Amino acid sequence: MVDTATGFYRTRKYGLDRYFGPVDLGIHLTTEYRSLNFGVGIFAGSIFPGSNRLVVTGFSPCWQGYYVSSMGGAGLVFDNLGINMLSLVGKTPVPSVLFLNRNHGEEIEVEVVPVAVEEIWREGRTGVYSLTDAVYEKFGARYPNDPRILVTGPAAMHTDMGGIMSVPITKGKISYVDTWAGRGGFGSAMVRDHGIVAIIYGGTMVNEDFRDRTVADEWFRNKYDMRLMQKDLEATSKYRYDEKVGTGGTLGVNYATMGGRILAFNYRTIFWTEEARQTLHQEFVVKHYLRQFNEETIVPKQQATCGEPCMAVCKKMNGIYKKDYEPYQTMGPLCGIFDQRAAEKLNHHCDAMGFDAISGGGVLAWLMDLLDAKLLTPEELGVTRLPRWDMAKFDLVADSLHNAELGCELIDAILELRGILDFREGVRKWSRLHSHEKGVALHDRLVYIAFSRRGWMVPNQYWVAGALAPMSIMGKYYMVYSNDFIPPRELGRKCAERMKKELILDNLGICRFHRGWAEELLPEVMGTLYNCTEQFLRAIDVLASRLHSRNCPVFWESERNVDYLHTFLQRKQAVDGDLSPELAAWLEKFAMNKVEAGRDFWYETLKGIDERLREFF
Ligand code: SF4
Repeated sequence: MVDTATGFYRTRKYGLDRYFGPVDLGIHLTTEYRSLNFGVGIFAGSIFPGSNRLVVTGFSPCWQGYYVSSMGGAGLVFDNLGINMLSLVGKTPVPSVLFLNRNHGEEIEVEVVPVAVEEIWREGRTGVYSLTDAVYEKFGARYPNDPRILVTGPAAMHTDMGGIMSVPITKGKISYVDTWAGRGGFGSAMVRDHGIVAIIYGGTMVNEDFRDRTVADEWFRNKYDMRLMQKDLEATSKYRYDEKVGTGGTLGVNYATMGGRILAFNYRTIFWTEEARQTLHQEFVVKHYLRQFNEETIVPKQQATCGEPCMAVCKKMNGIYKKDYEPYQTMGPLCGIFDQRAAEKLNHHCDAMGFDAISGGGVLAWLMDLLDAKLLTPEELGVTRLPRWDMAKFDLVADSLHNAELGCELIDAILELRGILDFREGVRKWSRLHSHEKGVALHDRLVYIAFSRRGWMVPNQYWVAGALAPMSIMGKYYMVYSNDFIPPRELGRKCAERMKKELILDNLGICRFHRGWAEELLPEVMGTLYNCTEQFLRAIDVLASRLHSRNCPVFWESERNVDYLHTFLQRKQAVDGDLSPELAAWLEKFAMNKVEAGRDFWYETLKGIDERLREFF
C-alpha cells in the first residue's frame, strides 16, 4: 500500500481464507481506504493461458460506484514484483510517476517522481504513447528484465472517463499492442485522486507458480477428454480465427454475423426498417469496412497477444493500429464512419488522449447527433464542421474521413473545454445543466446507463436488453448479452448468475476469452491445489451480494434507451419470428405507453437481479 503523498509504503499479508483474489480483496480495500488497487490472480505466472490479467478495482469516477476493470498480460511482469496487489492511497501534489522495482533484493524500491506530464503528452507520439516512451527512457535501464508501464493521457486529467493503457515491452522494444483497463475511468482516478500519471514496475522475483503440464493435461482430459492446449484452442476460436465465418477477433466475427442488428449513426438505425439496416450492413460494412479488415489484418495474420503466451492471439493489428470490435464500433459506424483509414485516425487520437474508447466513442456519436439535429451548434462545441450523416449521398471514404476529423476536433474540444463543453464531472451532469438552460433534454439522444446521482456508462455495443440492465456494475460483461428475448424477471436472474461467473474469472485474474473452460475448471483446481473450492465460491457469492448491496440503479433517463429496448423487442417478433405470448404482451404495453412499459421492464429485471443476489442471505 503506497501513500503517493509521501512515497512511504507498507506491506500487509492476507491468508487465503477470507479473500481469494484481486477483486474481493480490492473491493475490501476500496471500502476501507478508498484506495485504487492493482492486483493479479492466484494463477499468475502459471501455465494456464490467460492467467496474467492485471485487475484494477476502486471507486469509479464516471460510474460513481465500485468498479472492476482489467487489462491483458500486464500481470505477468507484475508477478515478478513478488506481491499480489498494489494499492494507492493519498495524493501527490504534482503529477508523478510511481517507480516500483524488485531487483535481486528483499525490498521493493518505491519512488514517486514528478514529471512535466502536460508537456510530454504534447510531444512525440503524443499522449499515452509519448508518456510510455518518456517513462521508459527515464527508468527502463534500471530493470534487468523488461518492465511494464501503465500510463494515462490528458483525458484522465480533464474528464472522468480516462483509462489506463499499457503495451508489452519485449527485449527493450516497446510494442504497438496496446492493452487497456479502460472501462470505469480508472485513469482519471489514478491521476485525479492520487496524482499518479504512470506506474513502471518489474523485478526478478521468481515465485513457485503452477507449471506442471502433465497434471494440468490430466485435469483437462478428465473433464473434456482433451489436453489443455486442445481445449483452449477450441474455446478461443472466435478470437483467433473462426472458420465458419472466415474471419477472426471480436471485430471480424461480430461484423460478419450481425446483419440487421447493426447500430450506426448514434443508434438512429434502431428506427430504420430491417431492409435498410441489412443494406447498410452489406454495402458499408461487409463490402468495405469488414473487407478492409479481413484483407489487411486477417489474411496476412497481423495478430499478437497482450503480452502473455496465448494461442488466442486476439490482438488484431494493422501496423500500429490494434483493432477491437467495440472501439471500432463506437468510433466507427456509431459515428458514421465505415472506412478503416478514417476509423484508425479517430481511434488512434482517442486512444492517444487516453479515453476509455467505448465511452469516448459513445459520447462523440451523441455530440455528432446533437450537431446534426441542430440542437447544438459547432461554435457551442468548439468545432468547425457538422457531421455528414446523410445516407442518400454518403461517400464511404470521404464522408467517413470527414466524420473522423470532426471526432478528432471534438476530442480536442473536450480536453480544452472549448465552447460550453466541460466533462470534468461527467456527461450526465453536464447534460442536466445544459438541457435545463436550453429547455430540451440533450441526454434523450445519449444511450447510457445511469447510476446513482451522476454516474453514467456507455453500454456494450450489442442491441440487446441485457446491455441496459440495472446491475451494480455495467459497461462490461456482468450481464447477459444474448440476442434472445428473455422475459425481464428471468433476464435479471441470468444477469446475476453471469455476474458471479465473471467474478470467478476476474477474481482469479483470468482473461474472459478463456471462459469456455476457466470458469468451470479453475474453481475445481482451487480445491485440488489449495483445498478451498467451496470457500472460494462462497466468497464469490459474498462479493456479488456485497456489490449488489450498493446498487443504486436509476431508471433510464434517455428516451433513446427506451426506444433501444422497444425496437429490440419489435425486431425480435417481426424479424426473428419470436411469437411467444409474453413478448406479444410486452409489445402491447409498449404500444400503449413506452416509458411506463420500459419502467416496468426495468423494474422486473431488477427484481430478478435482486432475487438472485440476495439469495446468499
Ligand atoms: S485472449 Fe487476448 S487478451 Fe486474453 S490472454 Fe489471450 S492474447 Fe491476452
